[in-house]
Amino acid sequence: MNWGRVENSLTRVAPGVFIVGGPDLSDPRDCLCYLVVGSQARLLVDCGAGPSAARILEFATEAAGAPPTHLALTHAHIDHAGGAAELKRLADCQVLIHAEDAPVLAQGDALRSAANWYGLKLAPLEADGFLKDGDELDLGDGQIVRVIHTPGHTPGSVAFYCPCGGARVLFGQDIHGPFSPAFGSDLDDWRESMEKLLELKADILAEGHYGVFRPAQEVEAFIRGQLNAH
Ligand SMILES: [Zn+2]
Repeated sequence: MNWGRVENSLTRVAPGVFIVGGPDLSDPRDCLCYLVVGSQARLLVDCGAGPSAARILEFATEAAGAPPTHLALTHAHIDHAGGAAELKRLADCQVLIHAEDAPVLAQGDALRSAANWYGLKLAPLEADGFLKDGDELDLGDGQIVRVIHTPGHTPGSVAFYCPCGGARVLFGQDIHGPFSPAFGSDLDDWRESMEKLLELKADILAEGHYGVFRPAQEVEAFIRGQLNAH
């Protein structure tokens, strides 16, 4: 299937889903950041390491025609959450994160956020709300994003699942790891989390560092490959 490209050349992953940040787009230190667009709301999944926050906001606004209303963080690592405070300031979006990773962001914890690996500082931010397993964020137009708690990489890691325009998209940003006691990683939890993701049988995996996988067989092969590697 040819998903095409929108006129601003931001990559369209699926109907209403765009890549709006990443190493080649916004800053080499950024994870891939995705935007899910519905008629009522626009959800940004992760926001890069921080220095590029304004750029990502610009791309997201360009892709959707309006700024994001929500920023949902897959976890509190700096390459995913570093821009949260600045995005909150610039766009006043609702910032959401799982309660187990929220203190890392609230305290700007340099070790647990891996900010020290990047030589950056995590700007502290109190989230507006906590993401819980099974929560559904209804963006309108059938763009309903479900939260899946996937502890392992960090205790508060989450993935998102959305039947975006008929394509079942899984946003699994750091499902590959890495794992470290400094992050509170737990490999047993992680294996269980990966099994949960496999059950979804997603058509598309929007990953944080490895790019976009499709079709369903490629998604499964990537997750199983990670399971076999650890
Ligand atoms: Zn991470």
